[in-house]
Amino acid sequence: MNTATDPKRQLLRQLNDILPPEAILTAKEDLHPYECDGLTAYRHLPLAVVLPTTTEQVQLIMKTCSRLKIPVVARGAGTGLSGGALPHADGIVLSLARFKQILAIDTANLHARVQPGVRNLAISQAVDHLGLFYAPDPSSQIACSIGGNVAENSGGVHCLKYGLTVHNILEIKVVTIEGELLTIGNDRQDTPGYDLLALMTGSEGMLGIVVEVMVKLTVKPETVQVLMADFAAIKDAGDAVAAIISRGIIPAGLEMMDKPAIRAAEDFIHAGYPLDANAILLCELDGTEDAVSDQVSRVSAILKAHHAGTIHIAKTATERARLWAGRKSAFPAVGRISPDYYCMDGTIPRKHLAHVLQKINDFSQIYGLGVANVFHAGDGNLHPLILYDANRPGELEKAERFGADILALCVKVGGSITGEHGVGHEKLDSMCVQFGEAELEVFHAVKRAFDPDELLNPGKAVPTLHRCAELGAMHVHHGQLSHPELPRF
Ligand SMILES: Cc1cc2nc3c(=O)[nH]c(=O)nc-3n(C[C@H](O)[C@H](O)[C@H](O)COP(=O)(O)OP(=O)(O)OC[C@H]3O[C@@H](n4cnc5c(N)ncnc54)[C@H](O)[C@@H]3O)c2cc1C
Repeated sequence: MNTATDPKRQLLRQLNDILPPEAILTAKEDLHPYECDGLTAYRHLPLAVVLPTTTEQVQLIMKTCSRLKIPVVARGAGTGLSGGALPHADGIVLSLARFKQILAIDTANLHARVQPGVRNLAISQAVDHLGLFYAPDPSSQIACSIGGNVAENSGGVHCLKYGLTVHNILEIKVVTIEGELLTIGNDRQDTPGYDLLALMTGSEGMLGIVVEVMVKLTVKPETVQVLMADFAAIKDAGDAVAAIISRGIIPAGLEMMDKPAIRAAEDFIHAGYPLDANAILLCELDGTEDAVSDQVSRVSAILKAHHAGTIHIAKTATERARLWAGRKSAFPAVGRISPDYYCMDGTIPRKHLAHVLQKINDFSQIYGLGVANVFHAGDGNLHPLILYDANRPGELEKAERFGADILALCVKVGGSITGEHGVGHEKLDSMCVQFGEAELEVFHAVKRAFDPDELLNPGKAVPTLHRCAELGAMHVHHGQLSHPELPRF
């Protein structure tokens, strides 16, 4: 090829006109830190990583890539667990890491305007002295970016009561693949037309680059109590969760951990968890003094009726923080007891919690791989952590099949293949289990409406019909499991 017309050379030449040299990385050793996200089993080096600092630069980069047909993968902090920020070998990674300013805090209207690279926790820290916080709190909140949260529609412990990212943002500014700057949403209650803000939230970098976010701020509750209950039977803990919510009590957080997760977290954080329990529930109740006191009594009664052993109420803010620290550190804690772990993310109707946990245990026996369960029980959002050793030939593939079977089970009982971690590269095949041809066609049509040449994060989140057809011929279609020995449910 004539090097003057080689799109890659043209790209680098044109990027040099847009960005200073230190904002364009092309050396192999500089690209390696961007080769994967939290799903480390998959890695690619991109052609280049660009680190713009202004919206105008992002617009020019997008225009250039659109003209030269170069794929663009947006990246926030790279904590995603589904390979969403996995680079494209023929494309660039567009990092939003340098967009880290909190632009405005509006206490009268309870919102803040922030750049996409601002860390989730930094928002709450910035408004703490005003008695406010930003409610969605992924366990990765110390590192993950608000742009990544919007792209994944991230959740966290407090989303049961306060909603996911989609419920806590008002407006975003987005750059399209053609380089156009769009403002989507506003700070009013409703707008005419389709809800494009909801469409963009959770779109995994497939429809545009988020360059600014207006987030809702929430007033801190008057009082907070955290209860920890231990159980001898996982089924009782699962049934207690369903009972609490069905009585009309919406805790600020309702989380469950099983024995392997309890042990790993306790060993790591010393949160005060009971090592002999088969399951614990952590339940946070917040509101006015009177309402919380009433809810503590009602929840305690429900827990006792479901055979909880000890019900412990944290006495101080420090103790509350310690109980939550154990839960929030559960993933890295599990990382200490196994060479590798594969974090799954699926959602089920709460009433099926006990049944599905039992099935996951059965799968664990069949596959011969351990599993630790730690999850947003109130939302029915499971996070089984499958333990494996990538150095043992075939174990990663076995862990992936085990994970796919868990997701198929979620679909079978009326749930979904994602809760909050997105589809990314990881769950393309599971999308074929959840959706049929007609639905996937609609997803592709939406993608093409925003990105006709499919340059934004290509190959992620929505599988091709061809891929699903091939897979259907092989093994998994509409809830059928991949392991021949698995019991049907
Ligand atoms: C230990 C651990 C715990 C976690 N706990 C939770 C949890 O409790 N809840 C939860 O929901 N998630 C959790 N996650 C997953 C992850 O932190 C979230 O998905 C988070 O929102 C990713 O943010 P990020 O900035 O790291 O995004 P990245 O990983 O960089 O990117 C994620 C996706 O968003 C796209 N993207 C990023 N920035 C932009 C942008 N500005 N515009 C357009 N697209 C963009 C990327 O292309 C990619 O598809 C956890 C991860 C880890 C490692």
